[in-house]
Amino acid sequence: MDNLSLILNEKNIAIIGGGLSGLTLAYLLEKQGYKITILEASSRIGGRVHTVEGKLGTHLELGATWFSDIHVKLVLLLKELGLKKYLQYTKGTTIFQTKSFEPPQLFTIPDSEQPSFRIAGGTYSLIDALKNNLKRTNIFLNTRATRISLMDDENVLVEADELSLNCEKVIVCIPPQLVSSIQLPVQIPSELYMLLPTVQTWMAGSIKFVLEYESPFWRKNNFSGMLYSHTDIITEMYDHTNYEVNKFGFTGFLNSSANGISLEKRMSNVLRHLSEFWGEEVFAPSAYFDKVWNDDLIVFNNQIIKMPHQNNGHPLLQKAYLEEKLYFCGTETSSQYAGYMEGAIQAAMRVANRIKQAP
Ligand SMILES: Cc1cc2nc3c(=O)[nH]c(=O)nc-3n(C[C@H](O)[C@H](O)[C@H](O)COP(=O)(O)OP(=O)(O)OC[C@H]3O[C@@H](n4cnc5c(N)ncnc54)[C@H](O)[C@@H]3O)c2cc1C
Repeated sequence: MDNLSLILNEKNIAIIGGGLSGLTLAYLLEKQGYKITILEASSRIGGRVHTVEGKLGTHLELGATWFSDIHVKLVLLLKELGLKKYLQYTKGTTIFQTKSFEPPQLFTIPDSEQPSFRIAGGTYSLIDALKNNLKRTNIFLNTRATRISLMDDENVLVEADELSLNCEKVIVCIPPQLVSSIQLPVQIPSELYMLLPTVQTWMAGSIKFVLEYESPFWRKNNFSGMLYSHTDIITEMYDHTNYEVNKFGFTGFLNSSANGISLEKRMSNVLRHLSEFWGEEVFAPSAYFDKVWNDDLIVFNNQIIKMPHQNNGHPLLQKAYLEEKLYFCGTETSSQYAGYMEGAIQAAMRVANRIKQAP
C-alpha cells in the first residue's frame, strides 16, 4: 500500500495509542468539538485492558480487572456509560503458602472498607462503550507511530509506516518508556529524553493467567478461591465468577520466572499447583489462557524496570511541548493512581482540560 497522507483541518487532533487513556481522551475531546484520529500499533484497541472469552463464554481478564470506590473518576465514567460494577468474591477460606516445607495456612479475610469491584460484562465493556460513543473518531489499527515533527505551517506531522497525518495537535497515549521508540522533534528538551526510558510501565513483566470451569467447585467447601503462594508457580489468585453468577473461573498472576517455560508447561504447572487443594476436578478446565506482558507494546528494548511506579507522574510528563501542540497522556503520566485505570482516566481528563484552556 502507498503511504497514505491525510491532511487534517483545524480542530483535528491525532492520538497515538488506543488504550484506555487514548479512548477516554478521544471521548472527552469529541465533546469539545474536535475530530480525532487514533493510531494504534496493535491489531486491537484496549492496550492493557485485555478480556478474552472462554469456551463457555466467560469473560476472562488477562489485563486490568479490579478497582475500588477511591477510583472516583473511573466509577463516574462507568456510570456515565451505563456500565455496572460488582463485588469481587472474597467469602470463605483463603490459602497462603509461605514455606514449601510447611502446610499452607488457611485464613478468612474480613470484609474490607474499600472492597474491590469488577466491571459487569468484563473490563473490555468499558473499552467497547467508549468506542461506541465515538462519533467523529477514526481508528487506524496495525499503525505504529514512528515519528513526530513540526511542519513549516506550524502544524504537526505524525508518521507511521503507511500513514502520515498533518494535524493541529498530537497526544501521545502510550507508556512513556515506549516514547523512546518514536523520533521526536529537535525542540524537545534533553531532560525529557533522559527521563522517558526511566519511567516504569506498570505491570510490565507480569504474567496473568485465567482459568474457566463449568462450576465453582472450590466454593462447595467454602473456599474463597483466593490463593497466595511464595512457594509455587501461582503467586496470587482470585475467584473469577461473572456478574450474573453463572460463569466461573480463576484469575491471577504467575511467578515471573515462568516466562522461561512454554504455555503448555505453565498450564500443567498451574493445574498441578491447584490440585494440591482441590484434587481431580482442577484438571478439567474448559479454558486456560495466560499472557506474559513484556512485548514491544509495553516495554522498550526489553527493559523491565523493577522499581514500581518509578518516575510515574513526573512533572515533565505533564507539560505541553511545541507551544501546546504535543502532550503526553497515558496512566504513567498521572500524578494520582498512575499505572491504574483510574490514572489513565485522570491523565485523559488533565490533557482534555489543558487543551480546553490552551490559546
Ligand atoms: C496484567 C495487568 C493487570 C492489571 N490489573 C489492573 C487492575 O486490576 N486494575 C487497574 O486499575 N489497572 C490494572 N492494570 C493497569 C491498566 O491496565 C492500565 O493502567 C491501563 O489500561 C493503561 O491504559 P493506557 O491507555 O495508559 O496504556 P495502554 O493500555 O498501555 O495503551 C497504550 C496503547 O498504545 C499502543 N501503542 C504503543 N506504542 C504505540 C505506537 N508507537 N504507535 C501507536 N500505538 C502504540 C499499545 O498497543 C496500546 O494499545 C493492569 C495491567 C496489566 C498489564
